[in-house]
Amino acid sequence: MDSKHPLYTGPYNLNEEEEKKLILREYRALLRALKQDIKKGDKAMLRHAFEMAAEAHKNTRRKSGEPYIFHPLAVARISVEEIGLGVTSAVCALLHDTVEDTEITLEDIGREFNNNIARIINGLTKISNVVDLKAETTVQAENFRKILLTLAEDPRVILIKLADRLHNMRTLDSMNREKQLKIASETTYIYSPLAHRLGLYEIKSEMEDLALKFTQPDIYNEIVKGLKDTRRERTRYINEFIKPIKEELAQHGFSFEIYGRPKAIHSIWNKMRNKHVTFEEVFDIFAIRVILDTPPESEKQDCWKVYSVITNFYHPNPERLRDWVSVPKGNGYEALHTTVMGPGGRWVEVQIRSRRMNEIAEKGLAAHWKYKEGAPTAQESKLDSFLEHLREVLANPNTDTIDFIQDFKLDLFTEEIYVYTPKGDMRVLPMGATALDFAFDIHSQLGTRCIGAKVNHRLVPLSHKLHSGDQVEVITSSKQHPSEDWLQFVITAKAKSGVKNYLRESKRQKAEEGKAILKRKLEALHTSMSQHNINELVQYYKKSSPLDLFYAVAVGAVDLSELKTFSVYGDKMQHPSREIRNDTRELADEEVLKQKHGKGAELIIFGERSDKILYKLAQCCQPIPGDDVFGFITSGEGLKIHRTDCPNASRLLANYGHRVVKTKWARNKEISFLTGVRITGLDDVGVIQKITNVISGDLKLNMRSLSIDSKDGIFEGTIMVYVHDREELNDFCNRLGILEGITKIERIDNTEGA
Ligand code: MN
Repeated sequence: MDSKHPLYTGPYNLNEEEEKKLILREYRALLRALKQDIKKGDKAMLRHAFEMAAEAHKNTRRKSGEPYIFHPLAVARISVEEIGLGVTSAVCALLHDTVEDTEITLEDIGREFNNNIARIINGLTKISNVVDLKAETTVQAENFRKILLTLAEDPRVILIKLADRLHNMRTLDSMNREKQLKIASETTYIYSPLAHRLGLYEIKSEMEDLALKFTQPDIYNEIVKGLKDTRRERTRYINEFIKPIKEELAQHGFSFEIYGRPKAIHSIWNKMRNKHVTFEEVFDIFAIRVILDTPPESEKQDCWKVYSVITNFYHPNPERLRDWVSVPKGNGYEALHTTVMGPGGRWVEVQIRSRRMNEIAEKGLAAHWKYKEGAPTAQESKLDSFLEHLREVLANPNTDTIDFIQDFKLDLFTEEIYVYTPKGDMRVLPMGATALDFAFDIHSQLGTRCIGAKVNHRLVPLSHKLHSGDQVEVITSSKQHPSEDWLQFVITAKAKSGVKNYLRESKRQKAEEGKAILKRKLEALHTSMSQHNINELVQYYKKSSPLDLFYAVAVGAVDLSELKTFSVYGDKMQHPSREIRNDTRELADEEVLKQKHGKGAELIIFGERSDKILYKLAQCCQPIPGDDVFGFITSGEGLKIHRTDCPNASRLLANYGHRVVKTKWARNKEISFLTGVRITGLDDVGVIQKITNVISGDLKLNMRSLSIDSKDGIFEGTIMVYVHDREELNDFCNRLGILEGITKIERIDNTEGA
């Protein structure tokens, strides 16, 4: 990663002469990278773009102190070297920030270059790059929607945008903490899934590693250190594993490359988290890769030959065979993956690819174009159908963008199945998709009218889960309408937004009736549908919006006779109990706790001691002092404090950046916080005694509960204790750790029900 880093990162102190030299050096490196692509006239165009950008940005510097032009130069190099884009894209990358940040207009670019370039830059400008903490949620969501729309228009826009974002992530060090969190979250929320969907695995991986580095530096550093400490041992093992295969493949006359490489830091972290294991316990921290130099016509059979050679030496796990050579993934990825039993009884993943497949794995979409010869390949048409699908969903103005992005992201990561229409056309759906998903995939009209399907000629209900190879015929009726429960069994973004759009539309119609009813009632009480009254009623009936209120009125879900209890002052009505009701709202757990364990300020919010601001600790991650935290302004429950590694953090930070409040802990030893740890160990008489000794004897902690389950000589326990801060929690964990028989201790995020 460091060698790719084109920028000067240290404290910036170059003189003008040195700066100029460095800028020119970057520019020449860009020309070298483009070498084969440069045709007659291209050089002059590139030079022109470079000079225009350098001139336009000449008075601006980046946060790190370096001249701004380094950034567009770096984005151009990433576009060319790491994504495989050509001259046009390089020109666009050089100019990508000029229209937004300088005097240069789109007309200027159209005139100086051409309309095509102006169009791409227009796309790039529309996707605002600025982290606008004050922007409304809808603005942020709209921004995501634009990203997806421009992607559907010209994929180059999004590819350059990804290069731009990658460079910003690589240079995130110089930003303040708040922006780091916001940019990193936005990256994992939308950009890395997109990179993944477009098959840009290297970029996706680097983005996620960098995001982890900034959101959870402790974990990142721990894994980096772990990888470094185990490198020697790993290299030895990999060499031992590879040796016989290498010899055998050479004997078969293959020209190939074989090597082992550690998996990405974020994917190691995901394994640690999902399986509740430590770094040492993650068994597959590396994979072996075989890359074959073989012509396209024999690559499939050669990949299988290599598979056969490898499994002559090592036993394969039949459940872990993935054949993306016969049927590539939806994002174009092709390879043969297998997991075999290596020396010393360790499972080892092996990835087999041809040189062409490897390039696709690294450069994704752009590599497809490179190999394009005449008619579109199967992969290309797959990509086209993905873009088509995107255009279709986004074209509907009723689609709720945040919802859609949420569902869309789920689509991006799941495994795929391949099913067929009655005519034998193949459709790719995520694993777990149902007959109804299939109907929506064909057309939303077909989806909303679907009453069932025939799968392999057998009649099945809407909710029937499909399998690879199924042939599906949709059965419709003009009387059919989507209902709420359909959302229980559709899993694709397209089907979900299809159902939701229908429901929203019919709810809106119903709400109109409710609005008319309410209007009559209010008039009877000699008041009106004023904004004040609507707000008052929304709050009184605990609805989340006027629409919800009107709908509830229409279906008779609220008791309108209660309207009589309101006092009316002309256009304003007020419920006498509402003030009081707000104040006596039941106390949340942590507030009770605060009373029990003393009072005082423990957070600094907006730079203020928190005794001036009311807040709650989020239940989803239960922060304690010492944790990295941020404040989040909720719509109904005031300020909530989350950990930056909270499972919900990236969604909140990416979508609602403007509601995030900078927060850190003040030192305070008087208040304690409920937290939980899970322990595992060997069952032994007296272990509970030892644990309680640590809690009440040594540390004098206040324990709320302790539950221990033991089975076959192994016990698992959950301890809930009150601690003052993270330091105390760490101390507690350390003391438990040295007890004989305890093998693992981990903090629990969410202790609800514990
Ligand atoms: Mn930029």
